[in-house]
Amino acid sequence: MSEHTLAIHGGKPVRERYLPYGTQWIDSTDIQAVLNVLKSDYLTTGPMIELFEQKIADYVGAKYAVAFSSGTAALHGACFAAGIQENDQVITTPLTFAATANSILYQGGNVIFADVDPNTYNISPKEIEAHITEKTKAIITVDFTGQPVDYDRIRAIAAKHSIPLISDAAHALGATYHKQQVGSLADMTMFSFHPVKHITAGEGGMITTDNPNYYQKLREFRNHGIIRDEQRLAVSDQPWYYEMQSLGYNYRMTDLQAALGLNQANKIESFLAIRRAIAEKYNEAFREFDQITLPYQLSDTNSSWHLYVIKLQLDILKATRTEIFQALQKENIGVNVHYIPVYFHPYYQQLGYHKGLCPHAETLYQAMITLPLFPKMTEAEVDDVIAAVKKVLSHYEVSS
Ligand SMILES: *Cc1c(COP(=O)(O)O)cnc(C)c1O
Repeated sequence: MSEHTLAIHGGKPVRERYLPYGTQWIDSTDIQAVLNVLKSDYLTTGPMIELFEQKIADYVGAKYAVAFSSGTAALHGACFAAGIQENDQVITTPLTFAATANSILYQGGNVIFADVDPNTYNISPKEIEAHITEKTKAIITVDFTGQPVDYDRIRAIAAKHSIPLISDAAHALGATYHKQQVGSLADMTMFSFHPVKHITAGEGGMITTDNPNYYQKLREFRNHGIIRDEQRLAVSDQPWYYEMQSLGYNYRMTDLQAALGLNQANKIESFLAIRRAIAEKYNEAFREFDQITLPYQLSDTNSSWHLYVIKLQLDILKATRTEIFQALQKENIGVNVHYIPVYFHPYYQQLGYHKGLCPHAETLYQAMITLPLFPKMTEAEVDDVIAAVKKVLSHYEVSS
């Protein structure tokens, strides 16, 4: 058996230990930051929340930031603040995590999927335009993998129809578009602090915005719809009085999470630099490979490289995506697939969405594989991924 024998055929895997596609990087300063909160007076809604919010607002160049218990809760808050209600239509991409579309359903809205651009994999401005109706009340874009959407064109569409643009930037903390930071480009922008994202708070999310009205609504929504500001109370004759004026949730972030997020935020730029260096190394290694289409970059944008997604040229391979995926897994490379088009899920199928709705997204889904990429990855681990991809693809190459 030669060293070229795939692990899936009984050969020796490229790596001994399984390498995940993404994971957090926690150091002793992160641990100390959380310990300090445990010894303090506030475990939740204490001083860490505002510090973390201010840090992210400053970093992206937004006036306000509102922390939430998760990115999903933050998206739900954004849909509430945008006034989405029963039967309103909201346009979004099918190539995303289900939470993006779910946030529309939580508010009773209808999800309208607009297809992606086959080169950038991001929602196509043309497709957005084509799906706008009288009932369209918002657009939610996703900066897929960390590459910003075409904000200029999409903002122009939103402005023309007087509807807000919500950006799901769970992948895009630190990304720039025309030298501007993601987080300052949409009416509301969501970031996630799940452990696989750029920085983590364990769980957590945030909305950045310049709009004081959205800011107020977001804060209200994460705390049961409760108002304490005297000026906004209907009655204010008692010192303990507060009013619940809308149906909010308990979507508060704890101070433990905020302290971790705040300390992690000191490392945004160093984490980004590593992500970009790894992506560059992958680009270099795979450029010569006809079987792989590399991630496409829009000019004058700088991706934050949450994910490195390769597209397989299946017509010049003797294997399916599934076979290649399984072969890489057996080499102990934690490849993944982002994403199953949202409307393929049984819940959405039951709502009446049909396969065939967004042909570009569906075709991409058949051919995409996500390679491991995270700041804590060592050079040797990056080399293992490259070696495994070359080993597997060479094996399945159609001989010319
Ligand atoms: C991670 C993610 C979310 C949800 O964020 P959570 O913090 O896990 O709730 C939403 N949209 C996209 C594109 C994501 O990657």
